[in-house]
Amino acid sequence: MSHQLPRSLAVLGATGSIGCSTLDVVARNPERFRVVALTANADVAGLLKQIQQFQPQYAALADRDAAQRLATEVKQLGLKTEVLAGAEALVDIVRLDAVDTVMAAIVGAAGLPSALAAAEAGKVLLLANKESLVVAGQLLMDTVAASGATLLPIDSEHNAVFQCWPQGGAAKQSVKRILLTASGGPFREWSLEEMQQATPAQAVAHPNWSMGAKISVDSATMMNKGLEVIEACWLFDCAHTQVDVVVHPKSIVHSLVEYIDGSVLAELGHPDMRTPIAHALAWPERIDSGVGLFDLTTAGALEFFPPDEQRFPCLRLAREASALGGAAPAALNAANEIAVELFLNEQVGFTNIAELVEQVLNAKAWGSEAHDSLAALMAVDEEARALARQLAA
Ligand code: NAD
Ligand code: MG
Repeated sequence: MSHQLPRSLAVLGATGSIGCSTLDVVARNPERFRVVALTANADVAGLLKQIQQFQPQYAALADRDAAQRLATEVKQLGLKTEVLAGAEALVDIVRLDAVDTVMAAIVGAAGLPSALAAAEAGKVLLLANKESLVVAGQLLMDTVAASGATLLPIDSEHNAVFQCWPQGGAAKQSVKRILLTASGGPFREWSLEEMQQATPAQAVAHPNWSMGAKISVDSATMMNKGLEVIEACWLFDCAHTQVDVVVHPKSIVHSLVEYIDGSVLAELGHPDMRTPIAHALAWPERIDSGVGLFDLTTAGALEFFPPDEQRFPCLRLAREASALGGAAPAALNAANEIAVELFLNEQVGFTNIAELVEQVLNAKAWGSEAHDSLAALMAVDEEARALARQLAA
């Protein structure tokens, strides 16, 4: 895939936190990007505003009723954007010849079919949707290798590791380990008893990053870091035992790579997703992201602590799923998505999230379930979701 300018961009999950940050970077670099398509789930007003600003050729909403309403509004405003409807439209959009770069920023396993389609079509795939690598790591990486697609990580930790990864002639064998930093989330210093009473509002109030509700809860349980350990294994072709986690409350060091000679490379900066987004959008070049100067003298002390797997069992569960392999990470992810949804709807407590995930993970030999096709993985995803709902009822 060429990196000719301007790049033709499809932003999936455009109205979300990553989608909006992406469009902010794009708007700062209008000569480099042409927005060909914008998609979301059901946010008519949010997408309409973006359509007016970026005038894409296509827009799509996964929710068909919402797409109908959007189409009416687009027509009334005399805009030329063609509005498509349904989950298949997202897949159709990433396959368009007119699209060379796809920002995959849908939340959850719902983002897998379109991310996989972008990989199949050999696009430049900017992957924020970590769940697709958790659910379908082998399939997605094999697809990227077969098509020659370019996969660039948006997740700040993985983008940091990518930037610190051996360049040129240095072999991967020169890496001793990857060290992912974790903020520890809003409950870093809470006891298990206190966490039992935690409300959705408290869980989504992340100390450093402004993010969507699902990933904010994942950060509070530290399942986010568990998912990121699995994500790192696929992106950098290593075992989960080579990926360590360190709690770093300020989120200034975004992750590190330790080499066999003792060198430790880190990427630092403001906790602002526009940095990894701009890095991936322009790679291998660099562009302005809108992020201000980083002043080390006012950053304060950088502290690091070991993670506490007693209070945050999701980290252990993700490692277990990774070790089990096969479809186990897909089951873990599906159970977590349901548990988080139930927690956000106040149907289960905060500490029930990890309990539910553990119960689903132990309910079946997921490791030996088929995981070599999208259909097989979606079947596991559905089964694990149903099981989680049943166990929570
Ligand atoms: P968000 O909830 O703010 O936005 C999600 C976007 O996806 C919205 O545009 C929504 O309309 C769309 N969407 C939701 N469900 C959909 C469906 N079923 N079909 C089609 N579109 C759907 O989420 P976010 O915080 O921007 O996170 C997006 C992804 O990026 C997640 O996978 C998250 O883990 C990852 N990520 C986010 C951050 C962050 O700082 N927000 C950092 C690293 C990684
Ligand atoms: Mg992250």
